[in-house]
Amino acid sequence: MKDLLQDPFAETHLSCRAARERISMTSLYQIALRDPKEAKRQHHRIRMARILILNMAAESAMLGLFAWAGTIPAWIALAFLVASTGSGLAFFLFFKSGKNLRLRDKGVLVPQLVVIATLQLVFLVLAPELAILFMLVLLVSSGFTLMEFTPRQFTIGWVIYAAATAAALWFVGDRFTYPGLSPVETALVWLFFVLALRLLTLASAQFSRLRGQLSEKNRQLEASLQKIEILANRDHLTGAFNRRNFMLTLEMEMQRAKRAARPFCLAMLDLDHFKLINDKYGHAVGDLVLKHFCSIIEQSLRSSDKLGRIGGEEFSILLAETSLDSAVKAMERLRILIADHDWETVGTGLTVTFSAGVTSYEHDDGTETMLKRADDALYNAKRAGRNRVSIAESAERMTRHHS
Ligand code: GH3
Ligand code: MG
Ligand code: MG
Repeated sequence: MKDLLQDPFAETHLSCRAARERISMTSLYQIALRDPKEAKRQHHRIRMARILILNMAAESAMLGLFAWAGTIPAWIALAFLVASTGSGLAFFLFFKSGKNLRLRDKGVLVPQLVVIATLQLVFLVLAPELAILFMLVLLVSSGFTLMEFTPRQFTIGWVIYAAATAAALWFVGDRFTYPGLSPVETALVWLFFVLALRLLTLASAQFSRLRGQLSEKNRQLEASLQKIEILANRDHLTGAFNRRNFMLTLEMEMQRAKRAARPFCLAMLDLDHFKLINDKYGHAVGDLVLKHFCSIIEQSLRSSDKLGRIGGEEFSILLAETSLDSAVKAMERLRILIADHDWETVGTGLTVTFSAGVTSYEHDDGTETMLKRADDALYNAKRAGRNRVSIAESAERMTRHHS
C-alpha cells in the first residue's frame, strides 16, 4: 500500500510519512490534480473511457443487428450490451473517482485489455457464428498496446492473446463458422469491419498525441541546451566568451594554422587605469563600462573574429585569417572607436581607453608562447604611455635584430 502511495506524493514533494498516512483518497486525487500535467493526463483517461463505452455500445448494436438478421439469438446481444457497457462504465467511474492515481499503472491499460479480451472471447464461445468478428476486435484492441508496451511486454501479451484465442476456439469446436450468407449478413460483416477500422483512428490519435508531447519535450530540451551552452561558454557580465572557451578556440585555431598554413593573429587588451574609473564612479559604473566596451567591440569585429574576457578588465581578440598588418590596423581602429566613444551617458566626464599588444601566429607556436608575446607587447604599450597598440617582437625578427 505504501508503495502504491509513493508516486503522487513524489510528484507533489509531500514526503512526510505522517501526512501520507492521514491523507484520504479524494485529497490524493486533488493533490495529483495540482500537477497540471497529471491533470491533463487524467482528463484524457476519462475521455478515452467514455469513448470505450461508446465503442462497446456500438459493438452491442452490431450484435443486435446480427440478432435481428437471425444469425445469433437476441439474448446474446443483450448480454453483451450489459457486460460490455457495464465494465466500460466501471472503468469510467474508476477514473472519475481518481483512485487510479494511487496505482503505478495510472492508465490501468492491462486490466482494460484483459476485460475487453475476456469479453470478446467469452462471446466468441457463446456466438461462434461471429468468431471472426470477435477476433477482429481483439486485433484492433491490441493495437493500443503498441505505444505503451515494450517489445518484450508486447510479445508476452501476444502469446497470452494467442493462447486465450486458441482455448476459446477449442471450446467452440466444430461450431466454428462464418455468419450466414444472406446479403444483410454480408453487409453487417462489412459494417463491423469498417467500425473496427474506425477504432484504429483512436489508436492513431493516441500516437500523434504522444508525438506532440515528444516534440514539445524536444523543444524544451533544445532551449535548455542553448541556455546551458551560453552559461558554460560566455562571461556572465559582458556576454563575451569566457577564458575557458577562448583558450579552446585559440588551441583549435592553432591546430588549423599548423595544418593549413593559414595566418591568424592574437591581441591582448587591457583597459587603462580602470581602477581609477572604479574608484571615481563606483563599481557599478565600472561594470557598465566593461559591458559597453564589449558590445562596441563585438559590433565592429568580423564574424570570424572572437572576443574573450580573460580576466577582470583584460580581454583577448582572436583575428582569424588575418595578417599582422591587417590585425594592427583593426586594433588601431578599435582603439580609436573606444577612445572617441561618448561615455557621458555612463558617467559624466568619463573617458575610456585601452592598450593592446598584437602578435601573429608563428611556426611552432604554442598557446603559451603566443599569449606571452602578446602580453609582453601589451606591457610595452602600457609603458609607452597607454592608449596605444603595440606589435610583438617576433622571435624571427628578434634574431634578425641581433645578427
Ligand atoms: P592599468 O592601466 O595599468 O591597467 O591600470 P588599471 O587600474 O586598469 O589596472 P589594475 O590591474 O591595477 O586594476 C584593474 C582593476 O579592475 C582592479 C579591479 O577592481 C577592476 N576590476 C576587475 N574586474 C572587474 C569587474 O568585473 N568589474 C569592475 N567594476 N571592476 C573590475
Ligand atoms: Mg588595466
Ligand atoms: Mg589588468
